[in-house]
Amino acid sequence: MELGELIALRPVPAAGLLLTLTRRCPLSCAHCSTSSTMAGEQTAADRLRRFVASFTVDDAPRVVLLTGGEPLLRPGLAAGLATLARAAGTRTALLSGMFFARGGGSVPARIMRAITAADHFSASLDVHHEREVARADVFAAVRRVLDAGVPASFHLTGTGPDDPYLADVVAAVRREFADHVPMLVNDVRPVGRAASWTGAATRPDTAGGAAVPCPMAAWPTVAFDGTVVACCNQQTVDARPVPAHLLLGHVAEDDWSTVRRRSLASPVLRLLRVVGPGHLTARYAPGTPACGWCATCRNIADRPEVLAGAARDGAGPVGELLDLHSTRSQLAAGPAAFVRRHGSSAYAGLVTLTADGDRP
Ligand code: SF4
Ligand code: SF4
Repeated sequence: MELGELIALRPVPAAGLLLTLTRRCPLSCAHCSTSSTMAGEQTAADRLRRFVASFTVDDAPRVVLLTGGEPLLRPGLAAGLATLARAAGTRTALLSGMFFARGGGSVPARIMRAITAADHFSASLDVHHEREVARADVFAAVRRVLDAGVPASFHLTGTGPDDPYLADVVAAVRREFADHVPMLVNDVRPVGRAASWTGAATRPDTAGGAAVPCPMAAWPTVAFDGTVVACCNQQTVDARPVPAHLLLGHVAEDDWSTVRRRSLASPVLRLLRVVGPGHLTARYAPGTPACGWCATCRNIADRPEVLAGAARDGAGPVGELLDLHSTRSQLAAGPAAFVRRHGSSAYAGLVTLTADGDRP
């Protein structure tokens, strides 16, 4: 599976699942939004396995993204989850901070087994990661992944289209891999793993209440403690309690089918996917001061008038149709358009590079 296929599915409700394997990580990137350390928490392996085992051929996400922390600290679990997911027809992608590449030696066998069990592998690379693991070592490891037959990509972050680091690293990847390895580039805010899967670094302004869909509400995220949240925004994923309209369950109690049904049927989530939090709030609670994209969304929990309005307009076949129409429009626009809206516009075309040599 190539990166472009994965990103193309990003606006499709319940087409994907972000699964946090651990909050642990041996690296110490200065920008780490998950505050990962080797003392971080993680969900018991059997709970994660049970949840993925609840996927069925008739009801499964099309892709599951294994993330962290550093998911390759649990290589046996990662390989096992990929195998379970495949039995239901779900493909697996794995994102790593590349700790195992340090020093440029061979990839440890257990880690390579986890990578080759997956359908896609992504390496994080930015100025902070490069202080932890040398670029040349990351390139060497990605080369070994490609040689093993697993499609790979890079997830890059920088401070914007004029960031000289970003220009340099993008040019280096294109040169090193002859334009056969795609890149997902996010602007500005150093963001966490889950958000970097999505190109979700750039948040629209909520002032003015314009209707701007939030496709991040399309894929549930399993947090490090097994809580299932409706989106991948790190502050929302970390919030306890999770605002009720953004909580989908817990892997200890719920199966995939339940989580999927809650995501698809929730009137608030439907309308967040269609018009976003700013429009929802402006429409049902006019005069509410703007306070940022995701903060506005989380605050909906304390605005009964917004919840009631969403329940009125987002429930039933009309809400379902609105959700479907919004998904179809975003699907038709394609993965590069998605990254132009939610990631680095200047580098959006790089998301569709493939091993076959398609060029932006
Ligand atoms: S940013 Fe990623 S690789 Fe770096 S410390 Fe955090 S989880 Fe680890
Ligand atoms: S707007 Fe809401 S649903 Fe969308 S990413 Fe932010 S918190 Fe999540």
